[in-house]
Amino acid sequence: MHLAFRVFDCTIDGILITDPEQKIISTNRAATTITGFTEEEMIGKTPQMLSSNRHDPGFFQAMWRTIAEKGSWQGDIWSQRKSGEIYPQWQNMSEVRDEQGRLANYISVFSDISALKQSQEQLEHLAHHDPLTGLPNRLLLDQHLSQGLERAHRQNQLMAVLFLDLDRFKNINDSLGHPVGDILLTQASQRLEQVIRADDLIARLGGDEFAIVLESPTDEQGVGLVAQKCIDAFIEPFRIDGNDVYASTSIGISVFPNDGTHAAELIKHADTAMYHAKEHGRNTFQFYNRQMTELAVKRLTLESRLRSAIENEEFILCYQPQISLRSGRIIGVEALIRWQSPTGELVMPEAFVPVAEESGLIKFIDTWVLQNACLALAQWQAEGLSPSFMAINISGFSIEHGLLIGMVKQALHKSQVAPDYLELEITEGYLMQHKQQAVEIINELQDLGVQFSIDDFGTGYSSLSYLKSLPINKLKIDRSFVQDIQHNDNDRAIAVSVIALGHSMQMQVIAEGGETREQLDILTSLGCDSVQGFFYSKPVTADKLVELLKTDRPIF
Ligand code: C2E
Ligand code: MG
Ligand code: MG
Repeated sequence: MHLAFRVFDCTIDGILITDPEQKIISTNRAATTITGFTEEEMIGKTPQMLSSNRHDPGFFQAMWRTIAEKGSWQGDIWSQRKSGEIYPQWQNMSEVRDEQGRLANYISVFSDISALKQSQEQLEHLAHHDPLTGLPNRLLLDQHLSQGLERAHRQNQLMAVLFLDLDRFKNINDSLGHPVGDILLTQASQRLEQVIRADDLIARLGGDEFAIVLESPTDEQGVGLVAQKCIDAFIEPFRIDGNDVYASTSIGISVFPNDGTHAAELIKHADTAMYHAKEHGRNTFQFYNRQMTELAVKRLTLESRLRSAIENEEFILCYQPQISLRSGRIIGVEALIRWQSPTGELVMPEAFVPVAEESGLIKFIDTWVLQNACLALAQWQAEGLSPSFMAINISGFSIEHGLLIGMVKQALHKSQVAPDYLELEITEGYLMQHKQQAVEIINELQDLGVQFSIDDFGTGYSSLSYLKSLPINKLKIDRSFVQDIQHNDNDRAIAVSVIALGHSMQMQVIAEGGETREQLDILTSLGCDSVQGFFYSKPVTADKLVELLKTDRPIF
């Protein structure tokens, strides 16, 4: 008995003995050491006191079922120490029966395996990461990419692989030494990590090669932008041991699904494209699909041209009158921007507004348009020629970034125009995506007296309950429904419902793109309030608009 007790107490595994009702009746020293509870604290309680809440009830039901069937159970289990710390333990539970076969006790023998788990995790990490930079290695890249591709396939999304190779890295290694090369690789990987989003993955493939996986980019041009950002991340020299070390990178890009559907294929094609980038003089990127490169470069050039256009204010505003279908006279004008490029070409907004929105440059454009449209209105007012409002298109970007209220206040202040002359147009597509934030900002500006209309209405899948919560004054029926309203019953039905919807919510309804007399007659018969379109006038310069205002007489 004495010897048995010594064994019980000296073994390094924790032991708990319970009665048939699972009340603890005996514990050994190791049980105290592992759990942190004293024997007195455990006696009389059930082993549930050590439960970690990491397992669902099904886990324990299965465990007890096994014990009932086989007499014992072994496995990994998460427990909780007195300190609250959760740790993994290896556990063996068995039942003890007396000579009559009646259940007498349960015995639980367990050991703390946290150290073991940790070294397992470390091994796992080592197997999947590059020891120098701590980045995922090729193995993890493959796994990540393959999983991502399955999802991209299911959800019909794009995925892109960027293959980066540092330019002339061998020179750096040979001339400055390997330790400097190592530091450069580490610093380069840190800079690249700042370029990508949290969902994207960057891996070191070995040597001076890196790969980046972009999750669901919106389009190829967007991928080109990220590639350019990676290249730009090398502009600043690397500071190593007090020296400035200059480096650059060449990047090849492949995009799922066009350039391949499997991980290995995409990586191979990105690698091929990287060699093209080297051939093109390094420090640049190339798509596997050559056409994509041209598009991406065009996009980037447009962005930088736009930047200088903003600096040099190369824009003009045209104005298109809005006509009341009751009085037949001008009630307001919409300001529409054009870019007068130094080459003499007049660029229409559709060719540059999307790029301005993606790059954030649109905030400067919105500011410029607001100020100049308000100044023009102030001048017309001074000449006694005022239309009752000036409609201005506002990008979602300015709302989203909390800039709109400041912009509007500044423009009103500079021009001394009263807020109720201002009507801001927000597209339905934007409003539906950014519900809550938009409501608050619109409300605040409404309190100042600014009016709001929803542009391109009918294209953005509005929810009616949301519309009700918006303090909007006007709906603009999208041009696409007006175009064929004479012949197309569906278009006419949509116009009818938008008009009914708007009026039931005390909103005005205007139709865009009225080009013919017939269209205007139909819109009038449907009860539409006003119209804007080529029938009355195309967007015109400020001078011509003044003429129109001077000679304004009913169109009917
Ligand atoms: P939008 O706000 O829906 O503007 C109406 C567009 O329809 C204008 O094109 C106008 O010229 C055109 N349009 C008007 N009447 C007719 C017609 O009878 N027939 C046809 N076929 N077209 C007509 P524009 O000026 O090229 O502007 C295009 C879009 O660019 C605008 O659509 C607006 O979303 C955006 N935009 C224009 N100016 C600005 C601006 O200053 N800031 C911002 N953020 N976006 C602007
Ligand atoms: Mg508009
Ligand atoms: Mg529109």
